[in-house]
Amino acid sequence: MRDFFKKLLAASEDRKISLNDRLSARMILVSVPAGFFGMIVCILAHTHIVAVAITAFLWISIPICYAILIFKGKLKTLEIIMLIALIILMPLLWLFGGGLYSGMSIWILYELVLFAVSLSGKLEVFANLCTIFTFIAAIMVERYTDFHFELATHHDVGVSVVGSVIVAGGIIVYMINYQKMLYRREFEMVENKNSELIVMADKAEKANRAQKLFLANMSHEVRSPMNVVLGFNHLISESSDINEIHDFAKNIESAGESLLIIVNDILDFSKIETGKLSIYPAAYNLDELVQMCCSSIELMCRQKGLEFTTGVDPTLPKALFGDKMRLRQCITNLLTNAYKYTDMGSVRLDFINGGLSADHKSVILKIAVKDTGRGISEAQRTEIFTRFQRLDENTNRAIEGTGLGLALTKSILEMMGGTIDYTSEEKRGSEFRIEIRQEIVSSGEAPAVAAPDAYSSHSDAASKLSGMCVLVVDDSSTNLVLMKHLLKQLNIKAVTATSGLETLERVKTDRFDMIFMDHMMPHMDGVETYRRMKTFEHLNKETPVIMLTANAMSGAEDEYKAEGFAGYLSKPVKLDDIRREMLKVMHKQGSHT
Ligand code: ADP
Repeated sequence: MRDFFKKLLAASEDRKISLNDRLSARMILVSVPAGFFGMIVCILAHTHIVAVAITAFLWISIPICYAILIFKGKLKTLEIIMLIALIILMPLLWLFGGGLYSGMSIWILYELVLFAVSLSGKLEVFANLCTIFTFIAAIMVERYTDFHFELATHHDVGVSVVGSVIVAGGIIVYMINYQKMLYRREFEMVENKNSELIVMADKAEKANRAQKLFLANMSHEVRSPMNVVLGFNHLISESSDINEIHDFAKNIESAGESLLIIVNDILDFSKIETGKLSIYPAAYNLDELVQMCCSSIELMCRQKGLEFTTGVDPTLPKALFGDKMRLRQCITNLLTNAYKYTDMGSVRLDFINGGLSADHKSVILKIAVKDTGRGISEAQRTEIFTRFQRLDENTNRAIEGTGLGLALTKSILEMMGGTIDYTSEEKRGSEFRIEIRQEIVSSGEAPAVAAPDAYSSHSDAASKLSGMCVLVVDDSSTNLVLMKHLLKQLNIKAVTATSGLETLERVKTDRFDMIFMDHMMPHMDGVETYRRMKTFEHLNKETPVIMLTANAMSGAEDEYKAEGFAGYLSKPVKLDDIRREMLKVMHKQGSHT
């Protein structure tokens, strides 16, 4: 029995149910002793047997109903049964418990409190109106008919009033206190939770800041050692005549490049997550974009025995405005996928004119990448642009990939106002289509495209660059050794400086043909050093300065050029890149003078 009551009590304190329902459960529960003591008061005050029977019925039926319904979670049903029972029984109890000249009035108040605590909304209003209406009806019946019972003596009236006040009043006071205690406890809990939330928010803020810092450093930290690995790998390969060494070096190079692509994808992904990915639109030449997209994939396809073709709609305007580097990243992702997932046949890249705007100020650029590869099944359609989702994990295991490429491509395109879609047939191939609006600029605003290898013809370069003397600034001695060796291959003499201050001294005493400047250096970074170089007289006022940095973020090149740097090279840097950039800078210098 004790267990049973313990269970009942526990149910009324169950934190899984709402505060109101817990109050309601407790109110109905305390009605059990109310029924019992009410019955005792009836007996002691010598009321009619009907009043005793009613209180006895309430005393016994409430715990039974409670046990059945509350454990089934049907508190509402219990409330409605109580409502009906009390609305029917209380007027009878009034009439047979002594009426106006007894303690019955306080039981009516008890009923009103019970409804106020356990019910809410329209039901509560309805229950209270019913109570008042039946109460008035009972007084009328008592006054105008014989259908009631009056207590025989003053003593009985006294017992009834005092007993009722003690029982019903006691329970009302208990309920008020219980409610106060429940709200206080909840309030304390909310306060505790609030202070926990403040601590957690503080931690989250710190973690967020740490993540941002991590992102900013990541590109630099990974690219710098990769620059050394790939650079020395190149030197090892160049300095050896053994074919096997060349093969090993090629493998290191291709693995290093794959690693860089993955690192960049992860960086971009984190930047999108934190809303940090920026788009840098600028005027560009469409032909240059086409060249950039085709250059590496063409060779990769040829090596795999795939045919690679390109088509550019002649009606497309050549001078456009948009983020060329991000667009190239999207197209390269699609081309790499086409290459990866095609074993036989061909890969085709098309640039199509999707129509000029009415004012001829913009054009819809449609880009299609078509392959004759394995295709994508209809069932995988919804998953294809989901992050980290690689379809058909079993068959794809042998193919490198992170499952980030398409999701990134889609997010980047959406940020630029573009869309991506595809059609595919299993075992026949796929076609991915990008659609993006690009502003049209006058051809003078877009940079002219160089012929594919204008700056990298070896013999040309050899004669132009040979014998030059350059200053290389970098705080990492390994990077300096690497650059010295790479430049030696071009027959260029390299003088080195390991800090901004040393550079400022060097430029006063020696004259250089070109300066390669690292960005991230302790005490005085490359940009600051360059700014200071502009503030005083020295021997290198006219010397072009090339930014050679691990900062490969989109838009970085434009920022450095806006600062005044003549050229930009991102680490890991290759000999060909150095040669091409130096010739480009010289070409520009020549055309300016
Ligand atoms: P992954 O790094 O795995 O290539 P992507 O996001 O680029 O990641 O592509 C997601 C999945 O979509 C791939 O794992 C592959 O199963 C499928 N997929 C993408 N492009 C092609 C394609 N051209 N042909 C066949 N399947 C493709």
